[in-house]
Amino acid sequence: MTRFVSLSSGSSGNSVFIDHKGVKILVDVGFSGKKMIELLGQIGEKPSDIDAIFLTHEHIDHIKGAGVLSKRFDIPIYANEGTWKAFLKKAKGIKNENIKIFKSNTFLNYKSMDILPISIHHDAAEPVGYIIYLGNKKISILTDTGFVDETIAYQIKGSDVYYMEANHDLEALKMGPYPYKLKLRVMGKMGHLSNDDSASALADALVGKNEVIFLAHLSETNNTPELSKLTVDTYLRSLGFDLDKDIALEVADRNKPSRIVEL
Ligand SMILES: [Zn+2]
Ligand SMILES: [Zn+2]
Repeated sequence: MTRFVSLSSGSSGNSVFIDHKGVKILVDVGFSGKKMIELLGQIGEKPSDIDAIFLTHEHIDHIKGAGVLSKRFDIPIYANEGTWKAFLKKAKGIKNENIKIFKSNTFLNYKSMDILPISIHHDAAEPVGYIIYLGNKKISILTDTGFVDETIAYQIKGSDVYYMEANHDLEALKMGPYPYKLKLRVMGKMGHLSNDDSASALADALVGKNEVIFLAHLSETNNTPELSKLTVDTYLRSLGFDLDKDIALEVADRNKPSRIVEL
Protein backbone atom coordinates (compact mmCIF):
# COMPACT_ATOMS: atom_id res chain seq x y z
CA MET A 1 0.00 0.00 0.00
CA THR A 2 1.07 3.53 -0.68
CA ARG A 3 0.04 6.68 1.17
CA PHE A 4 0.73 10.23 0.06
CA VAL A 5 0.15 13.32 2.20
CA SER A 6 1.05 16.96 1.69
CA LEU A 7 1.88 17.86 5.30
CA SER A 8 1.59 21.56 4.41
CA SER A 9 2.65 23.62 1.44
CA GLY A 10 3.16 27.24 0.53
CA SER A 11 5.89 29.74 -0.10
CA SER A 12 6.57 29.72 3.66
CA GLY A 13 7.09 25.97 4.05
CA ASN A 14 6.75 22.62 2.30
CA SER A 15 6.85 18.97 3.28
CA VAL A 16 5.47 15.81 1.72
CA PHE A 17 5.06 12.44 3.44
CA ILE A 18 5.10 9.18 1.46
CA ASP A 19 4.72 5.66 2.82
CA HIS A 20 5.24 2.71 0.50
CA LYS A 21 5.02 -0.74 2.05
CA GLY A 22 6.10 0.66 5.40
CA VAL A 23 9.04 2.66 4.01
CA LYS A 24 8.39 6.24 5.08
CA ILE A 25 10.07 9.29 3.61
CA LEU A 26 9.71 13.05 3.71
CA VAL A 27 10.37 15.18 0.66
CA ASP A 28 11.54 18.51 2.08
CA VAL A 29 11.24 19.62 5.69
CA GLY A 30 10.32 23.28 5.41
CA PHE A 31 8.99 23.71 8.92
CA SER A 32 10.64 23.78 12.35
CA GLY A 33 11.25 20.47 14.12
CA LYS A 34 8.43 21.24 16.55
CA LYS A 35 5.97 22.02 13.75
CA MET A 36 7.01 18.89 11.82
CA ILE A 37 6.33 16.68 14.86
CA GLU A 38 2.92 18.33 15.16
CA LEU A 39 2.09 17.88 11.45
CA LEU A 40 3.18 14.24 11.46
CA GLY A 41 1.12 13.71 14.62
CA GLN A 42 -1.95 14.99 12.78
CA ILE A 43 -1.68 12.03 10.40
CA GLY A 44 -0.81 9.56 13.15
CA GLU A 45 2.92 9.41 12.38
CA LYS A 46 6.05 9.91 14.45
CA PRO A 47 9.35 11.42 13.25
CA SER A 48 11.21 8.45 14.75
CA ASP A 49 9.49 6.25 12.14
CA ILE A 50 10.74 8.31 9.17
CA ASP A 51 13.35 6.34 7.21
CA ALA A 52 14.81 9.16 5.13
CA ILE A 53 14.50 12.80 4.12
CA PHE A 54 14.92 13.87 0.49
CA LEU A 55 15.67 17.52 -0.24
CA THR A 56 14.79 19.42 -3.41
CA HIS A 57 17.01 22.45 -2.72
CA GLU A 58 18.45 24.52 0.10
CA HIS A 59 15.90 27.35 0.35
CA ILE A 60 14.62 27.77 3.89
CA ASP A 61 11.00 26.87 3.01
CA HIS A 62 12.31 23.39 2.11
CA ILE A 63 15.01 22.68 4.69
CA LYS A 64 14.09 24.57 7.87
CA GLY A 65 13.69 21.56 10.19
CA ALA A 66 15.67 18.97 8.18
CA GLY A 67 18.86 19.23 10.24
CA VAL A 68 16.97 19.17 13.53
CA LEU A 69 14.96 16.07 12.60
CA SER A 70 18.06 14.29 11.27
CA LYS A 71 20.06 14.99 14.43
CA ARG A 72 17.28 14.30 16.90
CA PHE A 73 15.90 11.15 15.29
CA ASP A 74 19.01 9.91 13.45
CA ILE A 75 17.44 10.23 9.97
CA PRO A 76 19.57 10.10 6.80
CA ILE A 77 19.19 13.03 4.40
CA TYR A 78 19.48 12.54 0.64
CA ALA A 79 20.42 15.42 -1.64
CA ASN A 80 22.78 16.11 -4.51
CA GLU A 81 26.20 17.60 -4.01
CA GLY A 82 25.23 21.17 -4.82
CA THR A 83 22.35 21.16 -2.38
CA TRP A 84 24.47 19.55 0.33
CA LYS A 85 27.21 22.18 -0.02
CA ALA A 86 24.69 24.99 0.33
CA PHE A 87 22.66 23.23 3.04
CA LEU A 88 25.68 22.44 5.23
CA LYS A 89 26.46 26.15 5.45
CA LYS A 90 23.13 26.52 7.29
CA ALA A 91 22.88 23.18 9.14
CA LYS A 92 25.67 22.14 11.46
CA GLY A 93 26.33 18.89 13.26
CA ILE A 94 24.62 16.41 10.92
CA LYS A 95 26.23 13.00 11.36
CA ASN A 96 28.51 12.00 8.49
CA GLU A 97 26.68 8.72 8.06
CA ASN A 98 23.41 10.61 7.56
CA ILE A 99 24.82 12.66 4.66
CA LYS A 100 23.70 10.76 1.56
CA ILE A 101 24.69 12.20 -1.80
CA PHE A 102 22.95 11.33 -5.06
CA LYS A 103 23.40 12.46 -8.64
CA SER A 104 20.66 14.48 -10.33
CA ASN A 105 18.92 12.77 -13.27
CA THR A 106 20.08 9.33 -12.12
CA PHE A 107 17.79 6.70 -10.64
CA LEU A 108 18.23 6.03 -6.95
CA ASN A 109 16.86 2.82 -5.50
CA TYR A 110 15.81 3.47 -1.95
CA LYS A 111 14.39 0.33 -0.33
CA SER A 112 11.03 -0.27 -2.06
CA MET A 113 11.18 3.06 -3.90
CA ASP A 114 12.71 3.98 -7.25
CA ILE A 115 13.41 7.68 -7.12
CA LEU A 116 14.48 9.90 -10.00
CA PRO A 117 15.67 13.38 -8.99
CA ILE A 118 15.24 15.61 -12.05
CA SER A 119 16.93 18.94 -12.69
CA ILE A 120 14.65 21.97 -12.53
CA HIS A 121 15.14 25.69 -13.18
CA HIS A 122 15.39 27.74 -10.00
CA ASP A 123 17.82 30.13 -8.35
CA ALA A 124 19.31 27.58 -5.97
CA ALA A 125 22.56 25.57 -6.10
CA GLU A 126 21.34 22.38 -7.80
CA PRO A 127 17.55 22.14 -7.45
CA VAL A 128 15.57 19.01 -8.32
CA GLY A 129 12.04 17.71 -8.54
CA TYR A 130 11.29 14.06 -7.81
CA ILE A 131 9.66 11.36 -9.88
CA ILE A 132 8.94 8.49 -7.49
CA TYR A 133 8.01 5.02 -8.76
CA LEU A 134 6.22 2.84 -6.21
CA GLY A 135 5.28 -0.52 -7.66
CA ASN A 136 3.01 0.36 -10.61
CA LYS A 137 2.26 3.84 -9.24
CA LYS A 138 4.05 7.07 -9.96
CA ILE A 139 4.23 10.30 -7.99
CA SER A 140 5.66 13.56 -9.35
CA ILE A 141 6.81 16.32 -7.06
CA LEU A 142 7.51 19.51 -8.94
CA THR A 143 7.80 22.88 -7.21
CA ASP A 144 10.20 25.80 -7.42
CA THR A 145 10.88 25.79 -11.13
CA GLY A 146 10.75 28.79 -13.45
CA PHE A 147 9.46 26.67 -16.30
CA VAL A 148 8.74 23.10 -17.35
CA ASP A 149 11.21 22.04 -20.03
CA GLU A 150 10.73 19.11 -22.41
CA THR A 151 12.60 16.65 -20.19
CA ILE A 152 10.53 17.53 -17.13
CA ALA A 153 7.32 17.37 -19.20
CA TYR A 154 8.30 13.92 -20.43
CA GLN A 155 9.30 12.63 -16.99
CA ILE A 156 6.15 13.68 -15.13
CA LYS A 157 3.77 12.30 -17.78
CA GLY A 158 1.41 9.55 -16.65
CA SER A 159 1.78 10.09 -12.90
CA ASP A 160 -0.92 9.00 -10.46
CA VAL A 161 -0.26 11.89 -8.08
CA TYR A 162 0.96 15.34 -9.09
CA TYR A 163 2.27 17.66 -6.40
CA MET A 164 2.57 20.62 -8.70
CA GLU A 165 3.58 24.19 -8.09
CA ALA A 166 0.98 26.87 -8.78
CA ASN A 167 2.83 29.71 -7.11
CA HIS A 168 1.19 32.88 -8.34
CA ASP A 169 -1.45 34.42 -10.50
CA LEU A 170 0.52 36.43 -13.03
CA GLU A 171 -1.79 39.47 -12.90
CA ALA A 172 -1.87 39.43 -9.08
CA LEU A 173 1.93 39.30 -9.05
CA LYS A 174 2.27 42.16 -11.54
CA MET A 175 -0.25 44.36 -9.72
CA GLY A 176 0.80 43.27 -6.23
CA PRO A 177 3.08 44.78 -3.58
CA TYR A 178 6.36 42.95 -4.36
CA PRO A 179 9.30 45.18 -5.31
CA TYR A 180 9.94 45.19 -9.07
CA LYS A 181 13.13 43.09 -8.81
CA LEU A 182 11.38 40.40 -6.80
CA LYS A 183 8.50 40.32 -9.29
CA LEU A 184 11.01 39.69 -12.06
CA ARG A 185 12.66 36.94 -10.03
CA VAL A 186 9.39 35.14 -9.30
CA MET A 187 8.12 35.28 -12.89
CA GLY A 188 11.55 34.63 -14.44
CA LYS A 189 12.98 31.43 -15.91
CA MET A 190 14.65 30.64 -12.56
CA GLY A 191 11.64 31.49 -10.41
CA HIS A 192 8.28 29.82 -9.90
CA LEU A 193 5.41 28.37 -11.93
CA SER A 194 2.29 30.50 -12.25
CA ASN A 195 -1.24 29.08 -12.14
CA ASP A 196 -1.28 29.21 -15.96
CA ASP A 197 2.10 27.45 -16.24
CA SER A 198 0.86 24.77 -13.91
CA ALA A 199 -2.37 24.30 -15.86
CA SER A 200 -0.53 23.93 -19.13
CA ALA A 201 2.05 21.46 -17.74
CA LEU A 202 -0.75 19.39 -16.23
CA ALA A 203 -2.72 19.43 -19.47
CA ASP A 204 0.30 17.90 -21.25
CA ALA A 205 0.84 15.27 -18.57
CA LEU A 206 -2.64 14.07 -17.66
CA VAL A 207 -4.39 11.13 -19.27
CA GLY A 208 -7.57 11.03 -17.15
CA LYS A 209 -6.95 7.83 -15.14
CA ASN A 210 -8.14 9.11 -11.76
CA GLU A 211 -5.07 11.17 -11.14
CA VAL A 212 -4.86 13.23 -7.96
CA ILE A 213 -3.45 16.73 -8.32
CA PHE A 214 -2.32 18.89 -5.43
CA LEU A 215 -1.60 22.45 -6.46
CA ALA A 216 1.30 23.39 -4.21
CA HIS A 217 3.69 26.13 -3.11
CA LEU A 218 1.07 28.88 -3.42
CA SER A 219 2.19 32.41 -2.68
CA GLU A 220 0.31 33.99 0.20
CA THR A 221 0.60 37.43 -1.43
CA ASN A 222 0.06 36.75 -5.12
CA ASN A 223 -2.43 33.90 -5.17
CA THR A 224 -5.37 32.35 -3.37
CA PRO A 225 -6.37 28.69 -3.19
CA GLU A 226 -9.67 29.55 -4.92
CA LEU A 227 -7.97 31.41 -7.78
CA SER A 228 -5.34 28.74 -8.44
CA LYS A 229 -7.94 25.98 -8.41
CA LEU A 230 -10.32 27.91 -10.64
CA THR A 231 -7.57 28.70 -13.16
CA VAL A 232 -6.39 25.11 -13.48
CA ASP A 233 -9.91 23.65 -13.35
CA THR A 234 -11.19 25.98 -16.07
CA TYR A 235 -8.25 25.30 -18.37
CA LEU A 236 -8.39 21.52 -18.01
CA ARG A 237 -12.17 21.46 -18.55
CA SER A 238 -11.77 23.62 -21.65
CA LEU A 239 -9.57 20.85 -23.08
CA GLY A 240 -12.19 18.21 -22.36
CA PHE A 241 -10.86 16.67 -19.13
CA ASP A 242 -13.61 15.43 -16.81
CA LEU A 243 -12.78 16.86 -13.39
CA ASP A 244 -15.94 15.43 -11.87
CA LYS A 245 -15.01 11.89 -12.76
CA ASP A 246 -11.48 11.25 -14.03
CA ILE A 247 -9.29 13.72 -12.17
CA ALA A 248 -9.26 14.98 -8.55
CA LEU A 249 -7.97 18.54 -8.32
CA GLU A 250 -7.13 19.89 -4.87
CA VAL A 251 -5.04 22.65 -3.35
CA ALA A 252 -2.41 21.69 -0.75
CA ASP A 253 -3.22 23.66 2.41
CA ARG A 254 -0.50 25.93 3.78
CA ASN A 255 -1.28 25.13 7.43
CA LYS A 256 -2.51 21.59 7.70
CA PRO A 257 -2.06 18.16 6.19
CA SER A 258 -4.02 17.19 3.10
CA ARG A 259 -6.21 14.12 3.11
CA ILE A 260 -4.31 10.85 2.98
CA VAL A 261 -4.24 9.64 -0.64
CA GLU A 262 -4.09 5.87 -0.83
CA LEU A 263 -2.80 4.28 -4.00
ZN1 LIG B 1 13.11 27.78 -3.74
ZN1 LIG C 1 10.15 27.09 -2.22
